[in-house]
Amino acid sequence: MSEWTLFIALFLLGSIIGSFLNVCIVRIPLKMSIVFPASHCPACKKPIPFYCNIPIVSYILLGGKCRYCLSPISFQYFLVELLTPALMLLLFFYFGATWAFIISFIFCSALIIITFIDLKHQIIPDVISLPGIPLCFLCSFFVPWTDPVESLAGILVGGGTLYVFAAGYQLLTKKEGMGGGDIKLLAMIGAFLGWKGALLSLILGAFAGSITGILLIAVKGRDLKYAIPFGPFLSAGAFCALVFGEKLIYLYLTLGK
Ligand SMILES: [Zn+2]
Repeated sequence: MSEWTLFIALFLLGSIIGSFLNVCIVRIPLKMSIVFPASHCPACKKPIPFYCNIPIVSYILLGGKCRYCLSPISFQYFLVELLTPALMLLLFFYFGATWAFIISFIFCSALIIITFIDLKHQIIPDVISLPGIPLCFLCSFFVPWTDPVESLAGILVGGGTLYVFAAGYQLLTKKEGMGGGDIKLLAMIGAFLGWKGALLSLILGAFAGSITGILLIAVKGRDLKYAIPFGPFLSAGAFCALVFGEKLIYLYLTLGK
C-alpha cells in the first residue's frame, strides 16, 4: 500500500468516525440512544438513506439542506466530518502507527464531542468527562508522554486549580462564573496529559478564550457578562499541549534564561 493510499484510507475512516461523533453531539444532550433510531432529519423525521449520509460529500451535494423538506442541516455536521479526519491525519503524522496514535485519537474525539455540545448547549456532559477521568488514568500506563503518578497529579492539579478559581470567583462576585463541567473536563485532561499538560492546557485555553472574549466585545459589542463556554478553549488547549506541549515548555524555559 502506498503512503497516499494509507492517508486517503485514514481520511475516509476519520470522516466516518466524524459522522458518528455528530450523532453523539446531537443525541447526548437529549439523553437519546446513540445507536437507535437510525439517522433521520430532525425537522421532518424522515430517515436518511445511506447515499445521502456520506460524510462531507452529501452535505455539499445536498447544499446543506434536507433532501425531503429542504430545511437547513446544521453546519456542525460538515465541520465535524472535516475536522475529525484532519485531526486523525495530524496525530498519525505525529505518532505514526502506534498505540499512542489510537489512544490520542480517541481522546481528541471525546474533546470534539465536548467542544460542540458546549458551544451549542453551554454544558459539558458528565457521561464523557466523568468516566473519562479513570479511563485517561488507565491510558497513562501505555502512553509515552506521561506516567500514572503524573496522571494522578494531573487530576488533582487540573480539577483543583479550576475549583479554586471557580470558588474564588464566586466568593468575590457572588456569581457563578465557571461551571462544574469545566472542572471535570480539566481533571480529565490532567489525567491524560499529566499535571504539566493540565496547566499548559489551562494557560493556552485561558489565553485563547480571553482574546476571543475581547474580540467578541470589540466586534459584536457583547457585554462582559456574556458567558463564553470555556470547554472548547480547554479542549483546543489540551490538543495543543498534546502535540506541541514539550516544544512549548522547552521554548518557555529557554526564553526565560
Ligand atoms: Zn427533512
